[in-house]
Amino acid sequence: MSEVREIPTLWIQGGTCSGCSVSVLNAVAPSVKNILIDEVVPGNHINLRFQATIMAGAGDPVIRVLEETGEGKAGKFLLVVEGEIPTAEGGGYCCVGEKDEHPVPFRDWVVELGRKAMAVIALGTCACFGGIPSGRPNPTGAKGVMDVFKEAGVDTPLINIPGCPPHPDWFVGTVAKILISGLPKPEELDDWLRPKDFYGTLIHENCPRRAYFDEGKFAKKFGEPGCLYELGCKGPITYADCPLRKWNNGTNWCIDAGMGCQGCTQPEFPDFLGSFYEKITDVDVPKIGEYWKKREG
Ligand code: SF4
Ligand code: SF4
Repeated sequence: MSEVREIPTLWIQGGTCSGCSVSVLNAVAPSVKNILIDEVVPGNHINLRFQATIMAGAGDPVIRVLEETGEGKAGKFLLVVEGEIPTAEGGGYCCVGEKDEHPVPFRDWVVELGRKAMAVIALGTCACFGGIPSGRPNPTGAKGVMDVFKEAGVDTPLINIPGCPPHPDWFVGTVAKILISGLPKPEELDDWLRPKDFYGTLIHENCPRRAYFDEGKFAKKFGEPGCLYELGCKGPITYADCPLRKWNNGTNWCIDAGMGCQGCTQPEFPDFLGSFYEKITDVDVPKIGEYWKKREG
């Protein structure tokens, strides 16, 4: 019988509402069970050793799992980071476990485990770019993994799966692809380290209300037919496949529910996109076909 290859995985959580965990646990096909327990391809699966929301264990024994995986499996384990990383006041706004009777800042876990991991997945916009907790005035110094790694000189391969929360398929699909064909090649990620498979197109390009936009028919209040641009839709500058994939197992998504896209997968979210109902003004909104011409050219 051939040997089963396990990828030990640590999923640590900092400044998070746990919405990313809840979203990913709702994955349908493949499900989290398919990824965690079954073999995605014969002989390959992950071994989730730490996930505070769903694991039964607590206290020192589970903290030892983090330490032992970092030491014993260096270069062989996958680290998933959920939630932003507070960096002000020595990172003391968010601590996980204790060492020598002192709380350990979440930032230190991210840096130390991140340095030893085979690769890191930043799950959710908070972990990728700081997200809502990093909005002005940001008293806790909330940052994403990218910035923390840059400051600490960590160069472990990083994959960003943003979204507030991220779609479960974006995470499960990325993990499945790692199991099937290894880490993504640089050209498979965009400038913000997002897999192009999921974040390769603008919401605006595939939006069912796009014909209204091109005809200049804009809704003046919610509930009306028409493009939601004047009501604050950030779809023209947001990269994600929500119009094609939809949410809740393909049931619905923001714009079909009558609300504009809020740009939740973007590094500018939320502060630099304007308020939810404010029209974006200082960007070039692409005309139909221009986006694809730019990509092909
Ligand atoms: S502005 Fe928003 S609602 Fe209008 S077409 Fe673009 S993505 Fe769709
Ligand atoms: S449509 Fe926009 S706001 Fe809604 S989930 Fe997708 S990227 Fe986020």
